[in-house]
Amino acid sequence: MQRILVKRSVSKKDKKVLLMGWVDKIREHKRVVFIDLRDMSGVVQCVLDPKDFSQKITLESVIEITGLVKKRPEKLINPNLETGDIEIEVKEINVLSPAGEIPIPLTTDGYEIDESVRMKYRYLDLRRARMARNIRVRSKAVQFIREWLHEREFVEVETPILTKTTPEGARDFLVPSRLQPGKFYALPQSPQQYKQLLMIAGFEKYFQIARCFRDEDPRADRAYGEFTQLDIEMSFVKQEDILRLTEELFTQLVKKIFPHKKITQFPWPRISHKEAIEKYGSDKPDLRKNKEDKDELAFAWIVDFPLFAKQSEDDYFYGSGEARFAPSHHMFTAPHPDDFTLLDKDPMRVRGLQHDMILNGFEVGGGSVRIHDAKIQEKVFELIGFSKKQRDQFEHMLTAFTYGVPPHGGIAPGIDRFIYVALGEPSIREVIAFPATSGGQTAVMDAPSGADEKQLSELGIEVKSEK
Ligand code: ASP
Repeated sequence: MQRILVKRSVSKKDKKVLLMGWVDKIREHKRVVFIDLRDMSGVVQCVLDPKDFSQKITLESVIEITGLVKKRPEKLINPNLETGDIEIEVKEINVLSPAGEIPIPLTTDGYEIDESVRMKYRYLDLRRARMARNIRVRSKAVQFIREWLHEREFVEVETPILTKTTPEGARDFLVPSRLQPGKFYALPQSPQQYKQLLMIAGFEKYFQIARCFRDEDPRADRAYGEFTQLDIEMSFVKQEDILRLTEELFTQLVKKIFPHKKITQFPWPRISHKEAIEKYGSDKPDLRKNKEDKDELAFAWIVDFPLFAKQSEDDYFYGSGEARFAPSHHMFTAPHPDDFTLLDKDPMRVRGLQHDMILNGFEVGGGSVRIHDAKIQEKVFELIGFSKKQRDQFEHMLTAFTYGVPPHGGIAPGIDRFIYVALGEPSIREVIAFPATSGGQTAVMDAPSGADEKQLSELGIEVKSEK
């Protein structure tokens, strides 16, 4: 007999079915035992006569049930359950894998449980209905994005993870090289340089569901270590085209994947950075009309950022030369063409062609029109105080800029960030299957961990101190 999913049993009234899944609940009465059986599609109530079954069945065990699908009497119909008008009259039951006592409750929403315990048993935590829903919604959103962009002639390209530094203002993760001991790869903070090189390569419309690695402290809206973004780049476009495309994509995505959510305003309002600061005291204002309303999504664009900010202690990547400006976005963002002459005279007054996508008071994405002229790129390197050595790390970009570069630009909305805000979850970790804990410890597995002597010696590495 072929196994069917729980939700399909609804269409099999009076037929015999084979179901497999987990024991979600058990209710034992004298003459009857109810087992709620859960699989990926839902839950169904199974009814057993305790006389016929001797095995001890524990919660969360994996079982298989053969039984008859019966229509429930009218007054026992459960309207809150997709399978609420039927139940399974159990003929045979087998335990495929028994479960021991489950260390965390799974029937609650889980917010009340210590997060480090949830992470240790994340594979159990993901069984809870809320978490399973979050991960499924995320998958649907990504599928929607992929199809939508493919329909518009975008090409999905993977770019290297073992690479050279691509600064986005955070610390790099370094990976030691065995073939060249003493040398290191950096994990990409974003595919920024590769996507620009793909424009030079002639692809014109690129996207990637890209993993980015940044060694910065976690916050409620930022996972530690890695996150996923929808990385987009386009050639022969103006800022307007990038904003339009993103706006369309996310508005349609909300309609499809979050149909009960209402977008406050369309087209999304555009606010200059100056106005945002003056009017709202923030460059990511929350523009919801009713902040109590869980189903309101207030998107907006923040534009006309200053190209540079003053360098601070945290901008450790940038140069320490005389001029010490830090890019507000990153160093590939184009200056506003009307402000070119200010680059020499008064760099702090130069506007950048940067755009931030905000949602309910969160920055969910950022991007820009890029520099595509080696001379301007060199000028920006100089203004951020790059030494010759630092500049030489980007020689490949300057060289590529001499072989015919289309004007280009793009954006990178955060996937985890967007889903987390759209679902109104209290932490971004609620939409990531296996996030690191706030201390940088991976979920379930014990990393980071030490390396053995042989590994270290192959890498030419000696560990001076271990905490
Ligand atoms: N690379 C940028 C980031 O990761 C996005 C972009 O400029 O497209 O934030």
